[in-house]
Amino acid sequence: MQNQTLIQFFHWYYNEEQNLWTKVATEANHLKEIGVTSVWLPPAYKSNNAAYDVGYAVYDLFDLGEFDQKGSVVTKHGSKEEYLKAINALHDNGIAALADAVFNHKAGGDELEKVKVKTVNPDNRNEFTSDVFEIEAWTKFTFPGRQGKYSEFIWDHMCFSGVDWAEDRKETAIYSIQNYLGEGFENVPSTEFGNYDYLMFNDIDYRNRAVIEELKYWGEWVVETTKVDGFRLDAVKHISSDFIVEWIDHLNHKFNREFFIVAEDWNVVDIQGQLAYIEATGGRTQIFDSLLHHKFFMASKDESFDMRTIFEGTLVQTKPDLAVTFVDNHDSQPLQALESYVEFWFRPLAYAIILLRMQGIPCLFFPDLYGGIYDDKNNEGEDVHIELAAIPAVETMSKIRAELAYGEQRDYFDHGICVGWTRAGDEEHENSGVAVLLSTGEEGFKAMEVGKHFAGKTFIDALGYREGQVTIDENGWAEFHCNAGSVSVWILKVG
Ligand code: CA
Repeated sequence: MQNQTLIQFFHWYYNEEQNLWTKVATEANHLKEIGVTSVWLPPAYKSNNAAYDVGYAVYDLFDLGEFDQKGSVVTKHGSKEEYLKAINALHDNGIAALADAVFNHKAGGDELEKVKVKTVNPDNRNEFTSDVFEIEAWTKFTFPGRQGKYSEFIWDHMCFSGVDWAEDRKETAIYSIQNYLGEGFENVPSTEFGNYDYLMFNDIDYRNRAVIEELKYWGEWVVETTKVDGFRLDAVKHISSDFIVEWIDHLNHKFNREFFIVAEDWNVVDIQGQLAYIEATGGRTQIFDSLLHHKFFMASKDESFDMRTIFEGTLVQTKPDLAVTFVDNHDSQPLQALESYVEFWFRPLAYAIILLRMQGIPCLFFPDLYGGIYDDKNNEGEDVHIELAAIPAVETMSKIRAELAYGEQRDYFDHGICVGWTRAGDEEHENSGVAVLLSTGEEGFKAMEVGKHFAGKTFIDALGYREGQVTIDENGWAEFHCNAGSVSVWILKVG
């Protein structure tokens, strides 16, 4: 079996000439060559700002770039046909495709409705700050461009628990929709702001059975239509866990298989929320290890960070089987909502940690392979030019993960700035075994054991940062080196 490796094949500012779906098809074979086994694709359905939006402002889940809606037939990423071709190309290379499922909200309603609401205190959404009154809100979705194809479901205010815009008053607030479904917002995993059901746009209310059934049907439809192999679930801490459980069980049962599913349960404070989520969903989903990402961010900002504590309180340490590890994503990249971009000097170190160890399934981030250049405005409204350089070491390590990072793991997390580990290799993977050493301070060295079966053999740094070679002694040990603020990945020299 080959180690699993994901890639998030997009970022917030993808602006290459080729649209993203075409880029996926073009790159599929290369991704296979560097050991990628699954590709997470951004939302493929029509969003409110069809031609420009990355896809999280969902308008119509059934429009994969097929209907003239929201000012465009295609989405920012391309047409439905191109999306299907991209998935095909991945499959041709033995790579799984993961669809991005945004179930928290819908944006860009087609018609206004008169809706009874109460406002809530934004800092405590359990507290109403008004009596019931009526507003006009964009809560009706009829999808005139699609005309009932694939689904005739019409969304209205009974499908939503809240909105943030009153069209008649031209006013913003968090409006809790008053209907028969229940008082206030529904129970969701996050209790931040009292109840964090409401995030943005029209918040989907899972107390409405018709909504649950419609999204179960959509799950069937999207699997049958696109042949995707799994899902990335957006913003699950704002969504009823009971619904998520029902949706996953329905799909697995319907198709008689276990879909790979990874949930975004963003948390950088402590692990309790993620553990509670695992309990609430019976461990049905992998979870992105945002806590480890945050540790990387901290370590990259502070050279006195104690590397012995890098895994403390992370998901990959506590529940390694459910952790999807990553260095950054589209939300943490510069100028985005959760900006916390890991500094460039530390990125190869962070990638070594997620790619070359036994625990967790790593997820590469598009700009680290392909780079990214973009211009945007910061919070002060000033123009900002950002260049994210590709990091060749990431591809090298991804390949090593696929080919060589197997077998027993011996840890040497015994020094504040210099830590390492070895993998002993296994019989199944020829020449496998690896010794990794990284330093966040000055040049590092450490004696580490790779195993007696390597006695007398020679290791070299696959990243090429360190010249020379290392000979393993008769007990299976050697002293390995790395440069200052760097990582070296020592592998068996072959031939
Ligand atoms: Ca919600």
